[in-house]
Amino acid sequence: MSLNETLFQRAQITTPGGVNSPVRAFRSVGGTPRFIKKAQGPYFWDADDRQYIDYIGSWGPAILGHAHPEVIQAVQEAATLGLSFGAPTEAEILMAEEICKLVPSIEQVRLVSSGTEATMSALRLARGATKRDKIIKFEGCYHGHADSLLVKAGSGLLTFGNPTSAGVPEDFTKHTLVLDYNNCEQLESAFQQFGDQIACVIVEPVAGNMNLIKASEAFLQTMRRLCSHHGSILIFDEVMCGFRVALGGAQSLYNIKPDLTALGKVIGGGLPVASFGGRADIMAHLAPLGGVYQAGTLSGNPVAVAAGLTTLKLIQKPGFYQHLSTQTQKLVDGVNAAAQEAQLDFCADAIGGMFGLYFSKTVPTSFEQVMKSDANQFKQFFHKMLDHGIYLAPSAFEAGFVSATHDDKVIETTINAARSVFSELTC
Ligand code: PLP
Repeated sequence: MSLNETLFQRAQITTPGGVNSPVRAFRSVGGTPRFIKKAQGPYFWDADDRQYIDYIGSWGPAILGHAHPEVIQAVQEAATLGLSFGAPTEAEILMAEEICKLVPSIEQVRLVSSGTEATMSALRLARGATKRDKIIKFEGCYHGHADSLLVKAGSGLLTFGNPTSAGVPEDFTKHTLVLDYNNCEQLESAFQQFGDQIACVIVEPVAGNMNLIKASEAFLQTMRRLCSHHGSILIFDEVMCGFRVALGGAQSLYNIKPDLTALGKVIGGGLPVASFGGRADIMAHLAPLGGVYQAGTLSGNPVAVAAGLTTLKLIQKPGFYQHLSTQTQKLVDGVNAAAQEAQLDFCADAIGGMFGLYFSKTVPTSFEQVMKSDANQFKQFFHKMLDHGIYLAPSAFEAGFVSATHDDKVIETTINAARSVFSELTC
């Protein structure tokens, strides 16, 4: 038995399913999760000392590659000064200033410790500020596991959603309208019917939780226009795509100004930092200024903020995003070409340092389309790539991530592995 298998068996005794976050359990691809011992640059090593080229990058944060020396040094220095104070620090001001500078729609920001906290708090704030209850989200977008966001579409068009998790009362989701991503007509109808009751629309402007799906410009513009017209708050959930697709996030690429933005992942550089922020008049509703309560023992933690600040400094180096996008595009082009040689129904797409691999003829634009891709072929592909030392997201419905340390050699090795794997795939 391999050490990974031994550890997985042991983990299941004391931890439900053996993991602390479900996707790590390999349930949708089968097999044994790899238990990671250490990581450096584009690589990590499992308990059996096998090396992998890593394309999940901690599900987004590791944009500089793993264990960047300057980030590690900043963390070590911060740690020697104390781990947590429960009182404010200057570093938190620096972090807030940096976020507001890089994402101009954010006039004020509050730091939290996870993306879930960021979106959950942004929702509460939107509801508190508008004094409305209803919210709109889109099928296939994931915003963390707050109760009112664990919802799938109801049985009819424009009916309110049903919980996707046991333990979420229908009473909590009855205010959440779930619409199709990239469907402008549906959005128009929803606002026509419920416009004056909608507190906010929350969206991943580049969706990375149903594989990679880009919003159309028309979709985001329609959303902006309708929110402004009806006094609803537009929340961009850029926990994943923020600082990942461009320095100013997806909003800088689409040139659309949301009212609130949730950030996470990259801004913590691998430690638990996330944030929500936006228009100062909306943020003024937050305690201690206003009546919307939100708090956190470890919010703005000094060690985590040190990692985040250093990461934000390093990604501002000239050419950083150019290099990241070029490497990601090389990967996608190479894998696409290899799939064509093998005459497979496969395509790949990229934006910034994020990519999507789809076992379908065309790049999907909605949850419905992405669900039609061939999950069975993905499973085979995933395991064969793993055998070649390439670690992809263990699900056909997650995006992939490239870091600044994925150099030409690493990308070439990956493309060669994909070429060899594609030739062995069966229908
Ligand atoms: N929002 C988006 C877009 C995400 O991708 C995620 C996590 O993957 C979250 C929110 C939740 O973040 P966290 O896992 O830090 O709670």
